[in-house]
Amino acid sequence: MRRRAVKSVMSTLVLAAAALFNVTPANAAGRVSKWNGTLQNLQSAYNGEANAQARYVAFAARADQEGYGTVASLFRALARAEEIHATNYADLIRKMGYKPVAAVRAPLVRTTWENLARVATPLQNWAFYDLLPDYIRQAREDRNSEAIQVFEEAGAADEAHLVLLNATLKNLDSLKGSKGRAYYVCTICGYIADHPPAGPCPVCKNPDAKYELVT
Ligand SMILES: [Zn+2]
Repeated sequence: MRRRAVKSVMSTLVLAAAALFNVTPANAAGRVSKWNGTLQNLQSAYNGEANAQARYVAFAARADQEGYGTVASLFRALARAEEIHATNYADLIRKMGYKPVAAVRAPLVRTTWENLARVATPLQNWAFYDLLPDYIRQAREDRNSEAIQVFEEAGAADEAHLVLLNATLKNLDSLKGSKGRAYYVCTICGYIADHPPAGPCPVCKNPDAKYELVT
């Protein structure tokens, strides 16, 4: 009891000292900065997207091994989309004067069915379901309009990705032995279309959106 009370007093003192001397946390690049929630969130999103990209590259290789060519194409398109999201976050971090930092871990690869089922479930999709709404709220509080835009576009693109993932999961049996197919990835926001898009991208609405063909 007494020890707990001492600990509590100590943490209050540490917080008071931090406030007094304006001690602020170091960011992921190791620089001490004024605390900026959005900057930390951008770093976390960048790390998440870089890991997602690595995960989809590994899932594509596994799908090819198992003879699911169409699924491998979708995973490659998703890898490219996550790379675009990562680049958007990294550009913004650099613009704010910091260095983007990611720790990419070796992804856990199971069977194609399990890999698909895992990423097709919103609860398992870190960016879409869980963290992005908080990041957007924080970016609004910080009045960082560019961050709001990249978070919102990444979220909307991820939502569209889930539709493709679920449709593929539903038809997986019929895709055994399939060849690769074409997907079209918006190079601005990472939206993926399964047919050649006409007009502005439905997610970023950019009339100059260019689509990269991924097979
Ligand atoms: Zn777009």
